[in-house]
Amino acid sequence: MITSNKCANCSGELVYDVDSGELICTHCSSLKDFEKESEKAGKKLLTQDSTIEQSKTKYTQYSCQTCGRKHISATDTPLLRCPSCGDNNLIKTVKIDFTPDGIIPFKINKNTALEHFYIWLKTHHFAPNSLKKLGKSKVLDGFYLPAYFYDFDTSTHYSGVGINTYRTPNGQMRYTRHSFDKTRKDKYVNRIESASSTISSVKIRQLGNYSEDKILVYRTEFLYGWFGGQVDASLQENSQNMKRIVTQEIALDVRAKLPYSNIESFNCQTKFSDIMYKYVYLPVYKGFYKYKNRDYSYYINGENGKVAGKTPKSFWKIFFLVLGITAVAGAIAYLYSIYH
Ligand SMILES: [Zn+2]
Ligand SMILES: [Zn+2]
Repeated sequence: MITSNKCANCSGELVYDVDSGELICTHCSSLKDFEKESEKAGKKLLTQDSTIEQSKTKYTQYSCQTCGRKHISATDTPLLRCPSCGDNNLIKTVKIDFTPDGIIPFKINKNTALEHFYIWLKTHHFAPNSLKKLGKSKVLDGFYLPAYFYDFDTSTHYSGVGINTYRTPNGQMRYTRHSFDKTRKDKYVNRIESASSTISSVKIRQLGNYSEDKILVYRTEFLYGWFGGQVDASLQENSQNMKRIVTQEIALDVRAKLPYSNIESFNCQTKFSDIMYKYVYLPVYKGFYKYKNRDYSYYINGENGKVAGKTPKSFWKIFFLVLGITAVAGAIAYLYSIYH
């Protein structure tokens, strides 16, 4: 939606300011407030016909020619770098209709996010020292990730045959067979699934919980100066995928908890009921850096600062650790041989 994001004082550009939670003029720094209300509408029941509602307003869409992902902007501020892959290979394309049900606005600014990243790096003891001195790398973009919050109930029926082995007093192996046939029920609340391939659902969960009670009604003003990702899969595809993954997770959990040393046969079926959903924009920072000609990326939760990502590992740090352990073990063995 291209609305007026011009400052009333100086006609400079207004952007959403994380620290004040208002709009700030990038030219004269004057603040302008706008209406913010909690998203109280709750989740909607998922049916075969459910789709994401489209608004009547138009947003500018950018397509990345490197990774193929699409991003949207609420203002005329050009998107210079793709928030997904960091390349600047973008073209401005058609205008699209779009509206999430709710949004969790950014709570921490870019500098605070970077501080969280450096603290996180320090906890990675095998990361090369030169990486920790990367300096204030500014290649960090904040954007809104489209995601679904789901609530649902599952009922899982599982049956099969388990085997336990034991040894008799005279050392012979014996087996007992047990057939099982049970049902278990689970309740899921606020399971978050990514609606964009920019970040996997697993990665979002590594970023810690986003608070559902902090979701506000979406307003275009939140997007001033920021960018939003576009959904890659429809609500129907996303929910089908979610069901498939949850079914696998439950089956693995059921199997792991069976009190048998071997499973001879195993049958597990999960049924879903009362699936409720909400389409929400989540605040995420994505950062990029190069180390020894390889690209690395990391993510920061824009609400609580939690970081997720991989770091390169220093060969020498691991080498010296192993060497140290070997030396200590050798010394202990030597002393043991002397005194015994
Ligand atoms: Zn101004
Ligand atoms: Zn890209």
